[in-house]
Amino acid sequence: MAMRDGIFAAIEAGGTKFRVAISEGRKIVADTTIATTTPDETLGASIDFIRSGGVAAVGIACFGPLDLDPSSNSYGSITATPKPHWSGTSVLDRVRDGLGVPAAIDVDVGGAALGEWTWGAARGLSNFIYLTIGTGIGGGVFVDGKVHHGMGHPEMGHITLERIRSDDYPGHCPFHGACLEGMAAGPAIQDRWGHPGRELADRADVWDLEATYLAQALRTYTYVVAPQRIVIGGGVMQHPDLLDLVRVKLEQQLNDYATSEIRSGALDAYVVAPEFGQDAGLIGAIALAMRAGAE
Ligand code: ZN
Repeated sequence: MAMRDGIFAAIEAGGTKFRVAISEGRKIVADTTIATTTPDETLGASIDFIRSGGVAAVGIACFGPLDLDPSSNSYGSITATPKPHWSGTSVLDRVRDGLGVPAAIDVDVGGAALGEWTWGAARGLSNFIYLTIGTGIGGGVFVDGKVHHGMGHPEMGHITLERIRSDDYPGHCPFHGACLEGMAAGPAIQDRWGHPGRELADRADVWDLEATYLAQALRTYTYVVAPQRIVIGGGVMQHPDLLDLVRVKLEQQLNDYATSEIRSGALDAYVVAPEFGQDAGLIGAIALAMRAGAE
């Protein structure tokens, strides 16, 4: 099919499934879900689906860790992952070469941050943080109109927490034990309490502890990055009270120090849910595709 202006493809490449979409502008006109098995199968099926759309460019919001050093020979490749078959996979090259159109890649949370900035909960800001609290915890830092990359991409889920005295859970992270992800991601909730979060919805103690740890992280990000807003989503945040609890705990922990920019009582505008919810990664991949097509 001939290539058409304004038609883009988006890949949200996750560790268990790929969501692949064709869009007209930002509007999704076709989409499919492909299980994440081997690179040959999953990338092959993704490319076959996209090829039928005659797209102008492709954006990929991909699970990490990714090589995002533009001077590297393996730019756009997955680096060392415990996920079988995927370490060293050159995702960007395979998609771009397979389709013969411009392509851009970012880590999943970086793509989601770009989508929220372009059309969603962070429109008009120059600096903000996007966080997802789910099977893992990750974050993208958006600075001066782009997603920040330094030595690789940030790993905001693996910061140190101050342990709550009554909590003796050792933590779930294979690298750090009781880091933020090890203490507050979905698997840590299930491991600590013996049930997944969705079966613990009415347990106030569960969500009080969860909010306390998340607020510690937000306090750290607030003081290190000074973002204009923190957008926080992911499966764990689907609990109806958790976002408000996090705001209350964060306000207590900031304790009126250096928060005049946030304004007292205005944390509901500082800590917000993503506008695109569970679609943030896919919408972000469309924004990546548009940038790739414009270059
Ligand atoms: Zn960790």
